[in-house]
Formats: sequence, structure tokens, C-alpha cells
Amino acid sequence: MDFELSEEHQAIRETARRFVEKELPRSLILAWVREKVEPPRQLFRKLGELGMYGFLLPAKYSGLERADPIGMIAFVEQLARCSAALTTAYGRAAVILGPLVASAANKEQKDKVLPKVIAGETFMALGLTEAGSGSDAASLRTRALKQADGSYVINGEKMFCTQAQSAGFMILAARTDPEAIKQEGISLFLVEDPGANPAIEINRIETMGMAMVPTFAVNFRDLKLPASALIGKENQGWKYMLHGLDNERLYHGAIGVGASQGIIDEVIPYLKQRVQFGKPLSKLQSVRHKIVDMQMRVEAARLLTYRGAAVLAKTGSCHNEASYAKVAGAECYMHCAYTGLHLMGGLGYCVDSGLPMHFQDAKLFEIGGGAMEVQRDIIARGLGL
Ligand SMILES: Cc1cc2nc3c(=O)[nH]c(=O)nc-3n(C[C@H](O)[C@H](O)[C@H](O)COP(=O)(O)OP(=O)(O)OC[C@H]3O[C@@H](n4cnc5c(N)ncnc54)[C@H](O)[C@@H]3O)c2cc1C
Repeated sequence: MDFELSEEHQAIRETARRFVEKELPRSLILAWVREKVEPPRQLFRKLGELGMYGFLLPAKYSGLERADPIGMIAFVEQLARCSAALTTAYGRAAVILGPLVASAANKEQKDKVLPKVIAGETFMALGLTEAGSGSDAASLRTRALKQADGSYVINGEKMFCTQAQSAGFMILAARTDPEAIKQEGISLFLVEDPGANPAIEINRIETMGMAMVPTFAVNFRDLKLPASALIGKENQGWKYMLHGLDNERLYHGAIGVGASQGIIDEVIPYLKQRVQFGKPLSKLQSVRHKIVDMQMRVEAARLLTYRGAAVLAKTGSCHNEASYAKVAGAECYMHCAYTGLHLMGGLGYCVDSGLPMHFQDAKLFEIGGGAMEVQRDIIARGLGL
């Protein structure tokens, strides 16, 4: 058992660390948060040039001969130090939906989507959640009605479709067989340029955090899709989706780890120089112990996340391990954002400290991509409960 990253993975971590240091100063991140705007595409193109979109994509599309989930996690951990929200703009294409297209879509669809993903040229959006189906996502009701010529007409409403306005591609989950068991009547469709389609109405939802990755309510009114928009086989969509959701849970673990470590690395120097009652706050036992507890949670979440990545690299799936990583990472992030802000006192409460951004973003990871209870249920099933 080797707990060290390989030289190659250390190099990835170092590249990511330098990228964050050079391109993503806190002032810039906080400006995007304040203005509620997405980071510029140019930033993601630079990540594409550095090869950071290829970890889970095939060599044929300039990815790798063999998927490298550990490399992906090493990269995500560093990127998330500056902003969890920004990391999701990368991950939705590089970790969740790009790999889903690579594994389930046909050649024409892959040729269209994957070169843009690998170059960091496009955002991607996932249309899964609806007002009536969140945790129970397979109960979705958006309908894809097959026409005599093989094309489809889509009607329905999606909720929380993040980056739907700016995404080059949306992966849309819709019901193609209302008579089948719920998971077996769902198909996936590739919707190009959803923000420019007159049959798709997109309205921003105001959220507590994650301000630089806007999320939307999306209505489909008689959206016509050609037969060629179907991803994989009809009614097999849920199966394809599960693979993407496992990837999502795993990398949410890495986001939690990276963002939490970023907080700790900000708070420690502050506590060492902040003098109250004649000595640095870092010398007060109750303060030191809080920091130790934060770091212990990070170490535990990091181990679970890398274990999940190692299992994925070895076996091609990580269903249970991804849930362990997600719970540990998300709860660690929430704890570190709360405690880190508290330990910095009034300064932590100020927007410029960056802690309010973390405080607001962290909660999403305990809800989005499967709430903590849902993850614990997956783990419980794995334990035979
Ligand atoms: C900012 C944001 C961005 C998002 N982006 C996307 C996106 O891009 N695409 C997309 O498709 N979706 C997206 N989502 C949706 C997200 O995945 C859902 O919010 C999540 O799956 C939870 O569903 P829900 O909100 O309907 O909560 P509900 O399912 O109504 O659950 C509410 C609460 O009930 C409890 N609960 C639920 N199920 C169980 C259970 N089995 N056992 C015990 N307790 C339970 C939990 O405490 C949970 O938090 C986003 C959400 C947010 C807030």
C-alpha cells in the first residue's frame, strides 16, 4: 500500500497549484461571485491547453490510453482550493458529462462534443432534476414522444439545470416509455446550444451560493430533436446516467477536500499572527484543537477520495466508494467553512476574506448530486443493510 502520489501525479498537482496561484487570485474569484458571472472561457481553454480535460476521455479524442481518475482527483483538489463553484464548471464537462458521452454516445455525437470538451471550449449542462423529482430523479416526467419518422418531440420542465444558458451541449434525461418501470423508461438526448433554441425557455434561479455557475429552470415546449440526438439506446438512459453520477460523487469528494484545505491554509497564518489577551490565538488550546479537528477531517476525506479514485482506476467503477468520498468531502467542507469563518472572527465575516463565499458554496455539496442521506443509503446497501 503506497500513500504517496506517483511522480506523474505530483507533477499534475504542481501544475494545478501554479495555475491557481497565477490565474486565480482571490480578488478575481470574488469579483465573479459579486457580479454573479461565469468565469471567462479563456480560463478553461488554458486548462485545455495544459491537458487537464483529458483524464477520463479516450486517447482517440486526445485524452488518455487509460483513464486516470487519480490524476483527475489530484487536479480537482488543487483547483477547488480557490473556488468549489469554478471547479464544477470544469467538472460538469471534464468529469461527468464528457465521459458519459465518450462511453454511451455514437461516433457522430462524440466527434461533435469531445474535441470541444478536451480543448476547454465548451461548458456542458445536465437536465435531470425536475420540480417533482430531485433525490428520486428517476421519477422524472419530461416526455420525449417518438414521431413516425424516428424524431422526438420534448415537453416538460427541468429545475436546477446549471449553466444551461451558456452550455454548448445539454444532456437531457426524458421519459420515452411511460409504461415501463421508472428507471427503464428513460432516455438521454444531446441538445446542442440550448440557450439559443426558441423551443427552450431558460430562467435563472437565485441561489444562496455558487454564484459564478448560474442554475436555471428550463421549459421545453415542443422541442423537436432528430433521431440522431438520442444517446445510446432508447430507454437505457438511466444506466448511462449512473456512471456519470458516480464520477460526480467522487469528484465532489475532491472538491470538499481541496476547498477545505484552502480554508485551513488561510486560517492558520492568520491565527498565528492575531494577538489577543497577550498571545497569538493559535496558542489557545480550544482554537488549536478546532484546527486539528478540521485537518483530521480533511485527511480522512482525502484518503476516502483517493481510495475511490484508485478503485475506479482498477475496476472501472466506484459506486460505493464514490458515496463515501462525497459524504466525507462535503461534510468536511461544510465544517471547515463554518469553523474557519468562526475562528477568523469579524474578519472572517467580511466578504473579502473569502470565507462567506465558502460558507455559501459548501452547503450545495451536501444537497446537490445526491443529498447526504441518499449517499448514506447507498453505503448502507453496500453493507448489506
Ligand atoms: C445550485 C444547484 C445546482 C444544481 N445543478 C443541477 C444540475 O446541473 N442538473 C441537475 O439535474 N440537477 C442539479 N441540481 C439538483 C440537485 O442534484 C438536487 O437538488 C438534489 O438531487 C436534491 O434534490 P431536491 O433538491 O429535489 O431535494 P429533495 O429530493 O426534495 O430532498 C430534500 C431533502 O430531503 C432529504 N431526503 C431526500 N431523500 C432522502 C432519502 N432517501 N432518505 C432520507 N432523506 C432524504 C434530504 O435531507 C434532502 O436534502 C442542482 C441543485 C442546486 C441547489
